[in-house]
Amino acid sequence: MTDDALGYLHALLQAHETGGDTRALLAAQETRSQAGFSRLRTLVQQEHLEGSEAEELLRIEQLAQAHLQWLRSSEARVREAPVGSEATLLHEALSAFRAQVTPLLESAWALERTDLEAHKRYGQQTLHWGQLLGLFAPLVALTLVFSLATLIYLNIRRALRTLLRGAERIGEGDLTSELPVNGDIDEYDLMAQAINRMATQLRESVQERERLAKAEAEASEREMRRYNALLEATVQQRTAQLEETNARLTDSVKQLQSTQAQLLFADRLATIGQLAAGVGHEINNPLTFILSNLNYAQQVVSELDAAPTGVERRELLEALAEAREGAERVRLIVRDLKMLSHPDDRESGPVDLVKVVRSAAKMAAHEIRDRARLVQQVENVPPVHGNSARLCQVFLNLLINAAHAITPGQVERNEIQLVARMDDSQRVTVEVRDTGCGIPEDKLERVFEPFFTTKPVGEGSGLGLSVCRSIISAHGGKISVESEAGRGTTFRVSLPVHGGEACA
Ligand code: ADP
Repeated sequence: MTDDALGYLHALLQAHETGGDTRALLAAQETRSQAGFSRLRTLVQQEHLEGSEAEELLRIEQLAQAHLQWLRSSEARVREAPVGSEATLLHEALSAFRAQVTPLLESAWALERTDLEAHKRYGQQTLHWGQLLGLFAPLVALTLVFSLATLIYLNIRRALRTLLRGAERIGEGDLTSELPVNGDIDEYDLMAQAINRMATQLRESVQERERLAKAEAEASEREMRRYNALLEATVQQRTAQLEETNARLTDSVKQLQSTQAQLLFADRLATIGQLAAGVGHEINNPLTFILSNLNYAQQVVSELDAAPTGVERRELLEALAEAREGAERVRLIVRDLKMLSHPDDRESGPVDLVKVVRSAAKMAAHEIRDRARLVQQVENVPPVHGNSARLCQVFLNLLINAAHAITPGQVERNEIQLVARMDDSQRVTVEVRDTGCGIPEDKLERVFEPFFTTKPVGEGSGLGLSVCRSIISAHGGKISVESEAGRGTTFRVSLPVHGGEACA
């Protein structure tokens, strides 16, 4: 402003010297001054701190008035002063400026400095707060972001757990409970709605399936009842047929049993009949020498006049001893015959197999005698359980068959072995081995069949071995055969010892 005032004074003094229009300069300067102050007021109004604005505007107004007054008084002084007094004018004007304007200007400056100080303090304060804000704002923002993220994470986790529980319940078959829906359009609600929809559809489909299964079960139950009724009727019909067949079978079994008994009887009769010839022969021989010896003894005794001499006495005793031996043989044969035809053959108990086997051998002796040597290896075996007459019949039959397999006349070249021993399994085994003609392989399986015989009509009935097998089976035993055509045959009978396996 001071520079501007000096410029204005120079312009006035120049116009005064040159005779220029000082009023115009005044007007221009006034306009410029007013514009300057007006701008200053605006600035003060815009920038000033609250409270000090009015005071500063007052000072500006005073300064503006003082400045205007100085402009006008300076112009009037210059205009009225004579030419050549410019130096005085300049001095007076400047003195007036210093007196009127400068104090106000300095006061304004002081105020302005105060104001600037206040501004500076305010700025520093603002800066301080700004720094604090700059420091804490990111922390607060970070804390907020973290809290927000944690909140979002917890919400999402809770929502996911709820969804998971719902899905697990559905997986476990609980289709009735529904997941809670908040009503917000968010992913959780969409998922929960989808899961609820899925559960509903599943429930409906399960109900539909149950309904179908129930209908199917009812239908199959009806069908089952129908089949049951049909089955029952069929079973009743079949049962009646079976009962009828059973009755027929029972009759047949009874008939078979009676036929078997008849067959056994017939076979025994046949065996006895066959034996009768041999027995007759056996009885005939001892009877012959019994009779001749008795005749002789009778003759000698009748011719005796006195007591016999020593020779006569000895011969007489020999004849009588022979007669006794013959009679003894007859007694034994009759005893064996009694054993075979024992009437009560159903009796069973411990049987001394050694006795039975030897007895059978004696009975078959006449058949074997001119065919083979009879070798007996009969150990002291334990008793077996059964019927002695029936077992005797078995071994007699086997021995006679063995004898019949050997052509008569070659006794030294043939042998019939009768072996009895105890085997490992608490069973007694009796073997009848011969060196006869043997049995061809194709006939081996058939020898136990009833009525199978290779003997001429009238000589063999074909019942012997089948009866043997039937008797041995009834004793809980087994009979088997091994044979080689042209070399011989072995029949093997195995029987449980008494007190062992059950038997007839
Ligand atoms: P049969 O003696 O009345 O024929 P079997 O049932 O006792 O009836 O015998 C059946 C057949 O088995 C005999 O005809 C014979 O051919 C044969 N057979 C039995 N024993 C012997 C044996 N030791 N050697 C050769 N053949 C045998």
